[in-house]
Amino acid sequence: MVRQSDFYDITVVGAGPVGLYAAYYSGLRECKTKLIETYPHVGGRLISMYPEKEIFDVAGHRKIVAAELVRELTGQAMQYTPTVVLNERVTGLRILDERVIELTTPAGLHHTQTVILAVGCGAFVPRKLDIPHLIEFEGNGIYYFLPSFEPLRGKRVLIVGGGNSAVDWALSLGGIAAEVTLCHRMYKWQAHEAMVHRLLASSVRVKYPYYTIKEVLGDDKVAGAVIWNERSGLEETIAVDAIVLSIGMLTNIEPFREWGLRIVGSGIAVAPDMSTNLPGVYAAGDIVTYPGKVLLITAGSGEAATAVNSAKEYILSGELGR
Ligand SMILES: Cc1cc2nc3c(=O)[nH]c(=O)nc-3n(C[C@H](O)[C@H](O)[C@H](O)COP(=O)(O)OP(=O)(O)OC[C@H]3O[C@@H](n4cnc5c(N)ncnc54)[C@H](O)[C@@H]3O)c2cc1C
Repeated sequence: MVRQSDFYDITVVGAGPVGLYAAYYSGLRECKTKLIETYPHVGGRLISMYPEKEIFDVAGHRKIVAAELVRELTGQAMQYTPTVVLNERVTGLRILDERVIELTTPAGLHHTQTVILAVGCGAFVPRKLDIPHLIEFEGNGIYYFLPSFEPLRGKRVLIVGGGNSAVDWALSLGGIAAEVTLCHRMYKWQAHEAMVHRLLASSVRVKYPYYTIKEVLGDDKVAGAVIWNERSGLEETIAVDAIVLSIGMLTNIEPFREWGLRIVGSGIAVAPDMSTNLPGVYAAGDIVTYPGKVLLITAGSGEAATAVNSAKEYILSGELGR
């Protein structure tokens, strides 16, 4: 028997930007709300991977530093005083009966009528390359994300990748690093066009297309890199102090399959109302998949609002049935 005081209308799992917005919106709809987060801090990848990076594509902000956006989102979310549980990873989800969902964490059980999964890309590890000396220099000049720009101040930096993160990082480091080179192995860029044009007009040295890294050089730390053009075979050795590999993440969403959720590709399948295949379970943000899904904060915020509205409808439909 679950005590009424321990029973929530909506429990949001994951306190990244999408989970924070879902918690705010849930309060706005006067739902009794709980927010559960694995880490001791909120903010998701904005804090763990790029707190100092500027973000240019969030609605209402011409530009905002990631950590500042998290401060704003947190302030907004806390207006309706949700219960916030940090340092707890949800490891299990069970539908006890039609209107009671049980979430398991190493610290105990949480009971709720509905759940919104805003868990980002689940457990993830950065994608790596099988090239000489990369792994042995990890921690000594090899980076997969940048929790602080300070270690790169005055350094020569090579960024590998052509997505939004790689391009944004190259631009952000422009005024901090002594020299920035970016190499990109595709013809097409994955980054937004305007940012690519800004990059091409900047002081960043861009090696593109078909350029990638072949070898990391150095004795006990990174001192250089061999980059090469995969089409022409042309090689170049450049002196660098740091290499940032920004070539994506490998995600593990198997745990969600074990909970009974329908997985498509590497995401949780949702209907247009953000419902999953499990009753009372909704999802939003980078973890969801549907035709046309984009991995952006603004898109996730919209999905969070939709998920909360759908959860509220589900809660109200139960009250009418009583
Ligand atoms: C380097 C980089 C730069 C980016 N730049 C931009 C940009 O400029 N603009 C933009 O719009 N997007 C950008 N993105 C994408 C953006 O970060 C994501 O779209 C956004 O973080 C998705 O938010 P989310 O809340 O869904 O996931 P996340 O930010 O990943 O947050 C998910 C949270 O859920 C928690 N969690 C996961 N599993 C559990 C569990 N089982 N139990 C409890 N908690 C759990 C995690 O710890 C995490 O805190 C960038 C991404 C990267 C990697």
